[in-house]
Amino acid sequence: MEYVVAHEVAHLRHMNHSPSFWALVEFLCPNYEVAKEWLRLHGKHLYRFNA
Ligand SMILES: [Zn+2]
Repeated sequence: MEYVVAHEVAHLRHMNHSPSFWALVEFLCPNYEVAKEWLRLHGKHLYRFNA
């Protein structure tokens, strides 16, 4: 899942889901819109960064 990698890498720069974060995800993985549905299944992962 390339999107997952892009998503996690983007979190190394942006510890949130801000517009800047999504812009970076799109840069890393242009097809992220298709995989965005997956985010709903992994939404809890953010707690890892906020803990
Ligand atoms: Zn995330």
